[in-house]
Amino acid sequence: MTVRPGSTIGIVGGGQLGRMLAMAAAQLGYRCHIYAPDEDPCAAEVSALFTRGAYDDEAALARFGASVDVATYEFENIAAAPLAALAAAAPLYPPVKALEVAQDRLSEKEFVTDLGGRPAPFAPASSREELDTALAHIGAPAILKTRRFGYDGKGQARIMSAEDADAAWDAVRGAPCVLEGFVRFEDEFSILLCRSAKGEVVTWDAPRNVHAEGILRASVAPASLILRPAIEEARALAVRVAEALDYVGVLTLEFFASADGPVFNEMAPRVHNSGHWTIEGALTSQFENHIRAICGLPLGGTALAAPKVRMQNIIGDDVDAWHEILSDPAAHLHLYGKGEARPGRKMGHITFLGSGTGE
Ligand code: AMP
Repeated sequence: MTVRPGSTIGIVGGGQLGRMLAMAAAQLGYRCHIYAPDEDPCAAEVSALFTRGAYDDEAALARFGASVDVATYEFENIAAAPLAALAAAAPLYPPVKALEVAQDRLSEKEFVTDLGGRPAPFAPASSREELDTALAHIGAPAILKTRRFGYDGKGQARIMSAEDADAAWDAVRGAPCVLEGFVRFEDEFSILLCRSAKGEVVTWDAPRNVHAEGILRASVAPASLILRPAIEEARALAVRVAEALDYVGVLTLEFFASADGPVFNEMAPRVHNSGHWTIEGALTSQFENHIRAICGLPLGGTALAAPKVRMQNIIGDDVDAWHEILSDPAAHLHLYGKGEARPGRKMGHITFLGSGTGE
């Protein structure tokens, strides 16, 4: 099915990912309709239509579905059942099954393991007693992560020794968790792919990602040559995951590069912060290819547009340096139009092309 330019694309979620999707859609002649619970979401500022509604309001999601020609989501912490009401009213990509797998850390690890991937050693910890059993099995150091609703390092607690278990359990407020062994890694990277409904798959150069305090700070593409074997193994796994889910759109898998090869960390059924560099740094951006995929258009080329590309996130009040950032003629500044610069909040990003990328 082809959704023709001029049609309306529904996007569930109103953050910067929705904003950049809507901008890519506008370039291709589409109108976007944003659905989000927020009063003034930054994606709505660049879109034709906005409906304010709760993520669990099935009736409102069904009405939203009836108003669009195709729908997608940019936020994965949405319950699957209300989205099914949307999917009944409009084609919805990526498939809800992908969202269900990816929004639960336990099910995504099991799913990826079944396809031959290797996550860090893990065990469920749904109660304080089960945490003790998991710790006895995994050992310390380990990381306790909530199964759902975690992002940017939220919903996580480190356990350096068994004495930390009580504090970690308090930190996650008793939510169902998974305990993960601590991975000694050299680097982190992600695989970004886009799959069309016809089964065509394109991937971008895998970026090397730098995190601090659980938040992505920078992505650099291409990753160093040393990472290439791990990246190829991870890429093959990502393609198997996309095929198993009959996926349509951009899919992201994050990995640790360890001495024993790639260790799967997590997946996101959507465009991803580690792919923002593709706007200027690749022939077609992740946002444009996602729109092309969900609308049934041919996918665009993903080759690098420069020998080296670096994306740096602008977090919290770093955004105040916008004038200084723009004084570097090589910097492409993206501001998301979010009001308040709270600590840890992603306010924008900068992309540098070429060799002087500040590394
Ligand atoms: P996550 O929210 O799971 O992506 O975790 C955020 C960041 O915390 C990762 O990108 C890593 O830098 C670090 N991290 C998460 N899990 C582990 C682990 N099992 N071992 C070592 N570092 C981790």
